[in-house]
Amino acid sequence: MRKIIVQKFGGTSVADTDKIKNVADVVLREKQNGNDVVVVVSAMGHTTDHLVKMAKALSPNPSSREMDMLLSTGEGVSIALLAMAIQAKGYDAVSFNAMQVGIMTENIHSKARIINIKTEKLRKNLEEGKVIVVAGFQGVTEDGEITTLGRGGSDTSAVALAAALNAERCDIYTDVEGVYTTDPRIVPRASRLDIVSYEEMLELAHAGANVLHPRSVETAKQFNVPLRVRSSFKLDDMGTLIVGVDKMELHRPVAGVAADLTQARIVVCDVPDTPGVAARVFTNLANENISVDMIIQSYARKASNTNDIAFTIDKNDLPKTLAVLETLRQEINAGDIKVDDDTAKVSIIGAGMIDRPGIASTMFETLAKLNINIRMISTSEIKISCLVDKIDAQKALKALHTVFDLECDVVADVKGDLPDV
Ligand code: ADP
Ligand code: ASP
Ligand code: MG
Repeated sequence: MRKIIVQKFGGTSVADTDKIKNVADVVLREKQNGNDVVVVVSAMGHTTDHLVKMAKALSPNPSSREMDMLLSTGEGVSIALLAMAIQAKGYDAVSFNAMQVGIMTENIHSKARIINIKTEKLRKNLEEGKVIVVAGFQGVTEDGEITTLGRGGSDTSAVALAAALNAERCDIYTDVEGVYTTDPRIVPRASRLDIVSYEEMLELAHAGANVLHPRSVETAKQFNVPLRVRSSFKLDDMGTLIVGVDKMELHRPVAGVAADLTQARIVVCDVPDTPGVAARVFTNLANENISVDMIIQSYARKASNTNDIAFTIDKNDLPKTLAVLETLRQEINAGDIKVDDDTAKVSIIGAGMIDRPGIASTMFETLAKLNINIRMISTSEIKISCLVDKIDAQKALKALHTVFDLECDVVADVKGDLPDV
């Protein structure tokens, strides 16, 4: 049986028609290797950012259904253009949006999870020898409503398709040559990692390394999809391979560092110190689909029998969060609600830090030497995160990258320009 390879190309890789022609060549190279190819593409260049900008110019809080209707159009353009470019080179190709394929998601707008992908149409078209081009980032509900998977979600579309089709591999083609020890746009001497574990990559992606959508890594790990991140512009380079941790030897305590500037910190002050109150706060948030990241509950004040609960959320969820908390505050008789959105989460990640003492103290000392105040700390077995002031994030990231010896001699080659929103 022929092998299926899923390839995904991000916005920079399909930013204009010349780049789309280049993508067609990359696709056909894989086809000429004798493989069946399913291609997932993102919207061209900064299209999605521009669509968001237009929506915000019309409404401060646009409805999430209409946002999904709007944002899903970007991928509709690039799939048709890529299919045409492949056809122009003499090969058979067909483009499909999520509704045509049957990429079924939950009934949640702006961050829907894929539940199931129908493969009949895809298999039939592959059997007919066609290259299939699928729109990333979008899905459809049982009721026929269009959803999106969250910004950067085309990676997840690609990995989910690879899992559903039992593909040989999923190659994520992007504007850098793989996964680096940190964002090479911020630290040009970041080192390219040849191999990284699903576990580390998951933590890196959650910590703000947006080279991969976190849920794409989760899906790859769950279904054991071999994943590669590589450059659309440097084809002979194999990029970074992402595999299970058991396949690796861990020489380094820290694999990478990342900063996440999308979080806001909320403090609910003077919360009654009684059983069940924290459960109510976080259940009410969960019911509105708001994910909480770091959480700290302060030591209870004996005199008033209250404590403070601080946590972080995605800034985009701020209006919804404040609405939930305002109602709850009155019900549970809590005090003020404070918001701080000038924060950043800085993290170090590495499977090699397990059972290696001194990693946390090195991190905290490094931040202390720079006079950076740590507002919250959270840890997992392979990650330490500190919430700091946004203004300190780059300084912290660079210092941590140096102190954990992650620098290399060459400057990374990054194509494309920074997002303009
Ligand atoms: P695409 O449009 O191809 O999906 P993205 O912009 O989503 O591309 O992801 C690629 C970008 O991720 C790079 O240009 C780089 O600036 C950024 N990035 C952040 N952290 C890392 C990292 N650790 N390794 C590589 N790239 C990173
Ligand atoms: N076009 C979408 C975005 O910009 C999805 C993606 O690029 O993965 O977020
Ligand atoms: Mg991306």
